[in-house]
Amino acid sequence: MIFIKRIEAFGFKSFAEPTTLNFDFAMTGIVGPNGSGKSNITDAIMWALGEQSSKSLRGDSMEDIVFSGSSDRKPLNMAEVTLVFDNSTRAFSSLDYNEVSITRKFFKLTKESEYYINGSKVRLKDIQDIALETGLTKSSLAIISQGSISSFVESSPEQRRRLFDEAAGVARYKKRKEEAIRKLLRSQDNLDRINDIINEIERKLPSLKRQSKKASEYQTKFDELKQIEVAVLVKDIQLYKKRILEISEEKVEMKTQISSLEKAIQSRSEEFNNINKSSFENERELSKLNKEFTKIVDEIGQLKVSRISLESKKSKVDIDDKEFRISDLKNKAKELEIKLNSEEQKLGKLLADKVEKRNALEDFSKQRFELNKKLDLLRKENARIESTLENLYARKNSNDNLFEGVRNILENKKVLAGIIGTVQELINVDKQYENAIASVVQNSLQNVVARNSADVKAAIEFLKSNKAGYATFLPLDTLRANYIKSDMRFAIQKAKGFVGFANELIKIEKKYQVVLDYLLATYIVVDKYDDAIEVAKLTNYKFNIVTLDGERVLPHGAIVGGSRKQKNNLLNESMRISELEEKKNILDSNELDLQGQVNSLSDHIEQSREEIAEIQTAIGSAKAATEQIEKSQADIREEYRVLTGKELDGGEQEFQSLDEQIIKIIEQVTDCEARKEEIQQQMNVIRSLKDKSNERQNKLHSTIDEDRRMLSAMKDKYANLNADSMLMFEKQSSASERLAQNYNLTFESAISIEQTNVDNEEQTRDRINLLRQEIKSLGNINLDAIQEFKEENERYEHYVEQTNDVIESINNLKEAINDMDEQMVVQFKKIIKDVNGALPNTFATLFGGGTANIVYTNPDDILNSGIDIKISPPGKKISNLNLLSGGEKSMVALSVLFSILKVKPIPLVILDEVEAPLDIANVERFAKYIKTFINETQFMIVTHRIGTMENCDILFGATMQQKGITKLVQIKLIEAKKISNAS
Ligand code: ATP
Repeated sequence: MIFIKRIEAFGFKSFAEPTTLNFDFAMTGIVGPNGSGKSNITDAIMWALGEQSSKSLRGDSMEDIVFSGSSDRKPLNMAEVTLVFDNSTRAFSSLDYNEVSITRKFFKLTKESEYYINGSKVRLKDIQDIALETGLTKSSLAIISQGSISSFVESSPEQRRRLFDEAAGVARYKKRKEEAIRKLLRSQDNLDRINDIINEIERKLPSLKRQSKKASEYQTKFDELKQIEVAVLVKDIQLYKKRILEISEEKVEMKTQISSLEKAIQSRSEEFNNINKSSFENERELSKLNKEFTKIVDEIGQLKVSRISLESKKSKVDIDDKEFRISDLKNKAKELEIKLNSEEQKLGKLLADKVEKRNALEDFSKQRFELNKKLDLLRKENARIESTLENLYARKNSNDNLFEGVRNILENKKVLAGIIGTVQELINVDKQYENAIASVVQNSLQNVVARNSADVKAAIEFLKSNKAGYATFLPLDTLRANYIKSDMRFAIQKAKGFVGFANELIKIEKKYQVVLDYLLATYIVVDKYDDAIEVAKLTNYKFNIVTLDGERVLPHGAIVGGSRKQKNNLLNESMRISELEEKKNILDSNELDLQGQVNSLSDHIEQSREEIAEIQTAIGSAKAATEQIEKSQADIREEYRVLTGKELDGGEQEFQSLDEQIIKIIEQVTDCEARKEEIQQQMNVIRSLKDKSNERQNKLHSTIDEDRRMLSAMKDKYANLNADSMLMFEKQSSASERLAQNYNLTFESAISIEQTNVDNEEQTRDRINLLRQEIKSLGNINLDAIQEFKEENERYEHYVEQTNDVIESINNLKEAINDMDEQMVVQFKKIIKDVNGALPNTFATLFGGGTANIVYTNPDDILNSGIDIKISPPGKKISNLNLLSGGEKSMVALSVLFSILKVKPIPLVILDEVEAPLDIANVERFAKYIKTFINETQFMIVTHRIGTMENCDILFGATMQQKGITKLVQIKLIEAKKISNAS
């Protein structure tokens, strides 16, 4: 039969040129001198069928199979061999084609092979599988060299067995069994590994389960606690906030009342003191008047004594009573005239006094009116400032103007360690630098100064977890000042209009100075715009320069200026508060001053009115006295006319001097009486004033007492409000703290989550306490345990499942191995039996008689038993095969091989000089015997022996016409004989 139809080789070993060898006969002889490339044909077949061992191909590495060049030829970079098979008998059962071509290519550069079946690229394994299927492998009968023939008899029974394994098809099972054992070992390892893991998990699992159960219990309780406690805390905080607001309003109201009451008390106290002062004056005046009064009374007494003495003196010179009466009338008339004069003078003075007092009163009233107008304006202004201040205070306390993140940080300062405050809170700017600083520090005012970067990390976590906004932080431990170099500083300080470096112009506590050094050490403040331009040039536009008006030259030359509609509120607010407070103090003191002036004017007005009333009374009595005198004068004149028949017109000469003395005394007495009365009146006025003052003072005293009691009560109430407010703040902050610490929530974020209804507050609070106690009694909790237990348990179940899979696969593998063993035993036994059936005959044919058989060296272990050969050549008794000659050994081997071939035919056998040791007769027998197989097997025989050549159907000669390059040509027997002889 013809199995291999064609070999095409190019670049393989000595096939430097594309070489094709067609096989049209079942028995092909290949002849040629040594080294001409005959064996390279066999190598090419083995190589194309996937041979991987370079040693089997007689090389050191796979690159050795590529044509390496000759004296005339360059080396090649790739080798390619194609084998074309007739597959009409489906020797390759898996390939449903009548013709099958197998190609292997090898590339020297990449050292990689490519395989093709019928032109399609395939894997090495695909090639190896079909080679194994047809028995075309190196350990099979397909390729038999002289070496393997001679070693067959000499090798050990175990080595020899391999040939039978191959023939029995056991080799395939063995390969599969090896694979199955490898898999089994791997599975076993895997099982051990999984068992280790399972053991490890089993050790951990009970404790994790306990922890997980505890953690779940904790979680349930905590969730319930959180739900109700957050609701209660939110409700509490809302209540506290509301109450704080109410208290704040009450405080404002109370403060206003207190301050107005204080003012009232002050003004009343001043009035009281003023009255005290004027009372003292009055006392002094009274005592002075008293003394004067006593003196005048004495004086009048004296004058009266003098008059009596003068009158008695005069009476001695009286002639008669009529005369005396006339004279008396004259005197009295004179006296009345003097009195009248005096009264008229007094009245005139009183009227003039009254006019004067009235003018003064009007003057005071006018002044008081003006002052009251001023006071009114002042009070309005003060009220306006107070309300602005209230707004500013409220805004300052509410943090409303802060960014959300900054506000939340400041409001939770208690729970966040190391938060110091905003830049705005820490700095203080003098008014003259306000515009300059405001324009440069604006963006940094809300930066939050913190103790260190760890505190900042916690604060940022807090903002993140509460979604509570963001903020810029200045941690004191990482801030590094960015100073201007000292020579440059020196130059800047010398520049015209230089005011200072911004970081040095602002006031801040020494320990926070680094904040300013970090933010503003390269900001230079100058006087005016032109100065700024000059300094910018001087510093090569490297720094920020700002004028006192807030115009700026930025680094690299940009200029910012103009007028801001709204000044920087944040920076100015504190300043504005202190400015307003100062203004308010001044206004308060002005108000007091004006009020004092008004009060004093009111006193004067009151006093003037009283004085006018007194004068009016005095005028009344002076007028009455005048009328009385005029009436007395009329009576005297009448009497005089009756007595003398004349009008009263003058005195008698002789009494002139006495009368004159008396009249003078009378005049003096009248003056004194008038003065006495005047003093009396003045004293009365003063006394009445004193009474009124006393009365006023008593009233003031009791009012002040009452006011003071009220003030003290108000202050107590204010203090209570303060305490209440503090308490509310504390409660609010402790509730907020609890929200933050226990639930990581701000009030705002807590309010935004859904709230449980708290119907019965007392019951809810009891429940909270109970849950807290229960949670506490749970002790240490590992919350991760829930997830850990779940994961570990899943892992455990997963591995237990895997164990089952692996055990099942191990069992399957063991079963498969057993099956294979059984199958191998059956097949091996069969081949041995079959070969033993054929061997005696083959042996007898090749040896010309005798017999042979094969036996197991260990029949109890068919799978591993070696194979021995027992022979009896004709006429010889052989106990040891090694005693046979070389030719005999070959004959024994060939008879076994042929026996195998007989019972287990294979489609192609390549014999490489196997008959070399035989003598001519045996060669002839050998060649003839081969011919008996050609219906089942194709032979390719490399030979030097003529006997073999003569029996071949066709002969190819291998030559090297070009040195180092094999050329194959069909030749005739005669040529073959020549080549053979020549070799
Ligand atoms: P013998 O009758 O002595 O067994 P042979 O005819 O079987 O000889 P081979 O063994 O087939 O000869 O061929 C060997 C020849 O092939 C040698 O001449 C060797 O130089 C040549 N050869 C082997 N590999 C390469 C290669 N990679 N490149 C070129 N020539 C090679």
